[in-house]
Amino acid sequence: MEITEMNVAALREALDRRKISAVELATFYLDRIAQLDPKLKAFITVPRAEALQMAAAADRRIAAQEGVTVLTGIPVAIKDNICTEGIRTTCGSRLLADYYPIFDATVVAKLKQAGAVLLGKTNLDEFAMGSATKYSFYGLTRNPWDRNRVAGGSSGGSAAAVAAGMVPLALGSDTGGSIRQPAAFCGVWGLKPTYGRVSRYGLVPYAPSFDQIGPMARNAQDLFLLFQGIAGYDPLDPTSLPAPGETDGDLSASIQGLRVGLPREFFGAGLDAKVKERVLAVAKVLAEAGCELMELSLPSMAYANSAYYLLAYAEASSSMARYDGVRYGSRTGAEKGIVGMMTTTRQGLGLEVKRRILLGTYFLSADCYEDYYQQAQKVRTWMKQDFAAAYRRCDLLLTPTTAAPAFRIEGEAEDERALALTEQYTVAANLTGNPALSFPCGRLNHLPVGAQLMGPAGTEDLLFRVATVYAERAPEMALPGRTARDVGEQIEV
Ligand code: GLN
Repeated sequence: MEITEMNVAALREALDRRKISAVELATFYLDRIAQLDPKLKAFITVPRAEALQMAAAADRRIAAQEGVTVLTGIPVAIKDNICTEGIRTTCGSRLLADYYPIFDATVVAKLKQAGAVLLGKTNLDEFAMGSATKYSFYGLTRNPWDRNRVAGGSSGGSAAAVAAGMVPLALGSDTGGSIRQPAAFCGVWGLKPTYGRVSRYGLVPYAPSFDQIGPMARNAQDLFLLFQGIAGYDPLDPTSLPAPGETDGDLSASIQGLRVGLPREFFGAGLDAKVKERVLAVAKVLAEAGCELMELSLPSMAYANSAYYLLAYAEASSSMARYDGVRYGSRTGAEKGIVGMMTTTRQGLGLEVKRRILLGTYFLSADCYEDYYQQAQKVRTWMKQDFAAAYRRCDLLLTPTTAAPAFRIEGEAEDERALALTEQYTVAANLTGNPALSFPCGRLNHLPVGAQLMGPAGTEDLLFRVATVYAERAPEMALPGRTARDVGEQIEV
């Protein structure tokens, strides 16, 4: 079997039986990155020497049969807004081109402890602010299924890397949809965990009351393993949930009798009719597996996008205050006085980030605070109540992840409002703090389509269970068409 076709369990077995070493596995993927990535730009930094060292350490563990976990020797890519000790962490920004963190994010520390091999840092919109990975100082990430189209964003690098078989697993971050939307556009699986379930320590903040780190993978089982590897309470993150992060791991329990809600607001105007068809095909698979489908309504959704952008920009304006040239951000040296220093330092920021800081500062100004910020907070509270009421009627919700497949790079992706609409179905999970899982449900022509399962806080296990049953019953939909290997071949290198 081709290496790019093997799931983590198969790789684990091959490593444990010494059919392949961790160094060979890392070398295979590093070579593949060297071959394919010039055309896709999914990676910002590929620390080959460090990756091979980690792989060698994994081989020693396996040889000694000491401390071997399911992830020992398995390559993982990390979105470049997650701190890695001694490995450049740019956040896609020129401002942090030389930032080498002196500590690991908790998720990175956990993966290292488990013996995973960090293969590289993936591309993103600057500070995760965007929907197409087109606002990266390091270039635009292309969609492996069609290089004239965007990979989505902001975790576009992680999604493209997994889709093209350049790495089996990757971490992304999701503030308003940044894991799920690129996962849908690239035909991979992605989870935005419950707020607080995965530590944010070492994740460079964009809008901290929304930000969550989550896993991306090519199938449900791999996604679950990576989620288990990073979830759990962390005293270093004050918003970490005290509840145990461990999951029961039983994905085989029956889903018979589960009530799956189809909220009207996610199937209305703006939704591509063919995308709708694909998502309804998922509903049919679930119904055949014994789930009970029901329609319902979530009126608060009318304000979801407005509330999200308002609050996210407001939080961004305060998150970004740290880039003042004193604590973070490279100084030019020519600056005069404190204002001069801050001004020249911030010239290192891209236009989109500056736009958001300005708007966010405006929303928080004394004149606007009540009319904008407070109103948006009220909408957020309403949404939480609205969704809680829905979850009294059903166990989970099934929706499209995005209204349409990946945009062309030229054209639609130029229009900021059109881009914002790609998130109209994802922001709700961030506003409510609830978990949401995006998974492939077939293709439109050559482009993957994603469906989304959402549940109440802490129901990741349930989402995984339902998604696993779906993938078993409809494998051709869950792993759309071509395999990662074919995607790679399709790229002229
Ligand atoms: N595209 C959304 C935004 O620009 C979400 C980004 C994200 O989830 N990081 O805010």
